[in-house]
Amino acid sequence: MSGEHASSTVAVRVRRLEERLVAAGVVGDDQLDAILTKLLNGASPVNGARVVARAWTDPGFKERLLADANTALPELGLSMAGGLQEQRLKVVENTETEHNVLVCTLCSCYPIGLLGPSPSWYKSEAYRSRVVRDPRSVLAEFGLELPDGVTVTVWDSSAESRYMVLPRRPDGTDARGEEALARLVTREGLIGTAAV
Ligand code: FE
Repeated sequence: MSGEHASSTVAVRVRRLEERLVAAGVVGDDQLDAILTKLLNGASPVNGARVVARAWTDPGFKERLLADANTALPELGLSMAGGLQEQRLKVVENTETEHNVLVCTLCSCYPIGLLGPSPSWYKSEAYRSRVVRDPRSVLAEFGLELPDGVTVTVWDSSAESRYMVLPRRPDGTDARGEEALARLVTREGLIGTAAV
């Protein structure tokens, strides 16, 4: 099956990269295992959803998050320092007039710790090339039709810089507490291909 072939190819490439890092003395094998375990164990969109729900219910936190996400995340026991080096995170807020969507045009950079493993379409050549040129059409294909007055910004991730979307709080959720709000937030909402 092509899916299995693709993932085994990736696994081989990852292993080869690991061997080169170890051979170059950049990291030890044990150290690398510890980093990957730490990185992948807690990696889930539940983390991103908790961040969003906190921002929706705590204006002070939201302000700190948008100003400097790396400094604000530890308030929820989260951090961007899971890998070899800390990655810079910028949280971009959707409003009535502005919509944000994430991509990595070069490869597949993605805030795994906050969003969990990335969907396969995020890594696809089609998404990476098309969302930059024509974000509105791509978003419409995801079922997200944006009114004409809304500006769309596409954020291109890199090895050092990651992004996460802060979706708009849905109407009619005033009575919901932080945990109930977090359950509304989806991985696609955090990428910007869905409203929440
Ligand atoms: Fe990338």
